[in-house]
Amino acid sequence: MRTLPAAFAAYKWAPSTEELARRVGLDPVDIVRFDGNVPASPAASARPATVAAALARVNEYAHGGYPELVRAIADYAGVEPENIVLGAGADDLILLCARAFAGPGDQAAIADEPTYPLFAVAVALAGAEVGTDDPVVTFCCRPNNPTGALDPLPAARPLVVDEAYWEYAGETAAGLINDGVIVLRTFSKAFGLAGARVGYALADTETAAELNRRQAPQQVSAISAALALAGLADPPDVKDQIEERDRTARALRALGLEPLPSRTNFLFVPVDEPEKVGEALLLRGLVVRVFPNGIRFNVRDREDDDLLLEGLARVLDRPAPVASAGTRKTRVLRATAETRIRVRLSLDGASRVRISTGAGLYDHLLEQLAFHAGFDLVLEAVGDLETGPHHTVEDAALTLGEALDRALGDRRGIARYGDAVVPMDDALARASIDLGGRAWADVRLEREPGLAQHALQSLAQAGRLALHVESTGTDEHHVAEAAFKAVGRALRTAVRAESTGIPSTKGVL
Ligand code: PMP
Repeated sequence: MRTLPAAFAAYKWAPSTEELARRVGLDPVDIVRFDGNVPASPAASARPATVAAALARVNEYAHGGYPELVRAIADYAGVEPENIVLGAGADDLILLCARAFAGPGDQAAIADEPTYPLFAVAVALAGAEVGTDDPVVTFCCRPNNPTGALDPLPAARPLVVDEAYWEYAGETAAGLINDGVIVLRTFSKAFGLAGARVGYALADTETAAELNRRQAPQQVSAISAALALAGLADPPDVKDQIEERDRTARALRALGLEPLPSRTNFLFVPVDEPEKVGEALLLRGLVVRVFPNGIRFNVRDREDDDLLLEGLARVLDRPAPVASAGTRKTRVLRATAETRIRVRLSLDGASRVRISTGAGLYDHLLEQLAFHAGFDLVLEAVGDLETGPHHTVEDAALTLGEALDRALGDRRGIARYGDAVVPMDDALARASIDLGGRAWADVRLEREPGLAQHALQSLAQAGRLALHVESTGTDEHHVAEAAFKAVGRALRTAVRAESTGIPSTKGVL
């Protein structure tokens, strides 16, 4: 093999979630990653149904490439299909550009320091050197990783602009592709498809043709192409992520920290002893990226970012700028061919509840249950609602039950029993609960909006609780709602931490 420069350092991946969990003695589901600069959840379109047609033909090559995907990217980027080069992520295109432009004896320039480390890796792998002596090509990351800054575009040409985070900044160099600029983009960030490995380059027709000639045949799998195409049918709106980034930055400043101004979905925060801070956060299950002079982390959503803010406050020994979620909390991710459900549950919360499954009435009913139980609950689902709400409602209730079971741990010290009577106009509901660990459901609703009874039975099954519910009345919505509220009130009593002992004369549950 051709020898690499002595100083060559290969791109270094962060350890797997399983390895990090092992290192700190946590369950992998309790590890929250803030280090990949990716969204907290996949795109809603990333569902089994989206790839079903591609799977049915996965024995074949995608003869002729992916003209439909290339057309859709061109429309999204405001260019023509002849301006597009596909790659297995932006990384693949960085490597392609480096080897297409640079070789032994050449220098390639990298704007900004620090910046994305793969530019230097790609230049070395092409046999060239990083330098500013009449460079054959210049790489620039805009907005920049890890700082988040949107610096002015360098005047150098040819110029490769890595726009992995452009959706968050809203500024692009795509208008300059006929002026010696090559723009690299990805489906890994705003589109939430990092594992699919799809990226693209935008270049003038001639450069795009030359890059395509040098690209490996079909770097993108048919399954990934289907995911990217589905993502483009409904491109992401990053408004909420930007607001969340700004909220997080404000909270960091309240903590006395000074995050750098960011035009991306992540923040760079200078701290003393960043290694130590990173390790201390990891012990709490929070994974950030450590740099010599600070830490970098992407925003996820309010609940997860609050965990990080609380963790940082603890680690730095400062008052937390957010309310604590308590210790009896858990996360569950349940994915089947029919649904994907993500639950975050805290038993000692403040009734901060957010439920979005798309199964309207049942979101409302579960919200009532969690609110009246006093839980903090985020329950998000993406399901096959085209087949009706059954799978989504059942799996949401099962996942909530599983979360309840996990959050209760060995159930030591809890009140164990709870009951409640809840009237609601014409309806009257009575619920009794035993959290002793044996599943039983006797749920009698005089009227049924469809799946209310089944949802409560599923909750009892997965939560390992005995549940007796009776609800009567003339309006089916009221009958169901009173029942869910009563179950919530009963749960509130049953989960209460009362002592340190096992709540059974048997000494075991
Ligand atoms: N460029 C930059 C600046 C990045 O931060 C990343 C993600 N680490 C990439 C490229 C890689 O993107 P992809 O997943 O498309 O290879």
